[in-house]
Amino acid sequence: MAKIRAMAIRKVARLGHPVLREMCRDLSPKEIRSPEVRRLVQDMFETMEEYGGVGLAAPQVHEPVRLAVIAFEEENERYDVKKAEGPLVVFNARVHVLDEQRSGFWEGCLSVPGMRGYVERPRKVRVDYLDENADKRSLEAEGFLATVLQHELDHLDGVLYVDRVADPKKWGFSEEVGRYLTRPDDEQLDDEEPE
Ligand SMILES: [Zn+2]
Repeated sequence: MAKIRAMAIRKVARLGHPVLREMCRDLSPKEIRSPEVRRLVQDMFETMEEYGGVGLAAPQVHEPVRLAVIAFEEENERYDVKKAEGPLVVFNARVHVLDEQRSGFWEGCLSVPGMRGYVERPRKVRVDYLDENADKRSLEAEGFLATVLQHELDHLDGVLYVDRVADPKKWGFSEEVGRYLTRPDDEQLDDEEPE
C-alpha cells in the first residue's frame, strides 16, 4: 500500500472571519511537544508553501493559539531580501521594540488575498519565544525580518496589517498598487504568491 502523507494544506481564514480577531492563547510545554501541535506546525508550513507565503500564524488556519511559522529564501528579488530565514517556529512569542525608528513595507497577507498596503513598523525588535521543544529562545531582528515577525505576531492579538495602514490611500489591489502606488525603491512584503 502506498504511504499516506501525514501533512495537509489547511484552509486559510479570510478578513471578516472572527477567528482572525481573537486573542490567541499560549500553549503549554506539554501541548507544544504533542503530536497534534507538531502536525499543526507541519500543516502550516505546507499551507504557507502552497500559497507562497513568507509567514503564517495559527489563527489564519483557524487555530487561536500563539504559534507562527516563518520561512523565506535569500536572493528573493521581489522582497529585496539579503538573507534567508527559517524555517522558524515560534510559540508564545512576545515582541519588544529595540528601535522605535520606523521602516515601511508594502505588506500583503494570505487572509487578505489580492491586496497590499503600506505599513510602517519599528525597525528593530527582540522576540522572546519557545521553540518546538518548548525551550526558551530570544531573537533580534531588523528590517524585513522584523516586519515579518511583527506582522505574524500581530495576528496572535487579533490584529491585521490593514489596521496599521496609516494612510488608507496606500491600500489597494496588488496589481493597481504595483502599477500606480509603489515607487521603484519601496520595499515589498507580500505574503502572497507573486503574480
Ligand atoms: Zn498576515
